[in-house]
Amino acid sequence: MKNIVLFGPPGAGKGTQATLLKEKYNLVHISTGDVFRFNIKNQTELGLLAKKYMDEGDLVPDEVTINMLKAEVEKNADANGFIFDGFPRTESQAIALDAFLTEKGVQINGMVALEVPEDLLVERLLERGKTSGRTDDTDEGKIRNRFNEYNTKTAVLKEYYQAQGNYYGVNGVGSIEDITNRLADVFDKL
Ligand code: AMP
Repeated sequence: MKNIVLFGPPGAGKGTQATLLKEKYNLVHISTGDVFRFNIKNQTELGLLAKKYMDEGDLVPDEVTINMLKAEVEKNADANGFIFDGFPRTESQAIALDAFLTEKGVQINGMVALEVPEDLLVERLLERGKTSGRTDDTDEGKIRNRFNEYNTKTAVLKEYYQAQGNYYGVNGVGSIEDITNRLADVFDKL
């Protein structure tokens, strides 16, 4: 079983690459952002709660997010492994994920991080906002807040996985295909 955290700041290309890599490696792709958006669209209780935070570019509280992630994993009990995209985003989430997988007798094989300079990310997000229908991609203030959340709460996870010897940085600048190939080189070794 291969369990991979695909990591990187907003706009790094995690969703695009996870969609390509899940096919290649027969893994289940769980994007917590996509699950929240699905719930918002269907006006579930979880969606209503998450929307308040997402609209501002703030992180959704850990407890809600962790429970949701666990439920998504449980729904795919026969999976060959997972690509976690957009999770974990805080140290508490990372600790909860490790404990949850340990209970199942498995582990994270690696955090694979897409490394992209911030000015390029803002450009990509504004471009994506023109077609994605995502309100958090169209407002530069909200984008800045998402980076602030990333820099203050999420970026520390690099050290968390480095301490486990599980961090793999990949250059996230270039064509989609080149980046997929770079990621695949790392996935192959995990
Ligand atoms: P994303 O699609 O990964 O860019 O996530 C969009 C938004 O969903 C984020 O700005 C957060 O508000 C929320 N979100 C997604 N994943 C998480 C997470 N692991 N923890 C907290 N909030 C999250």
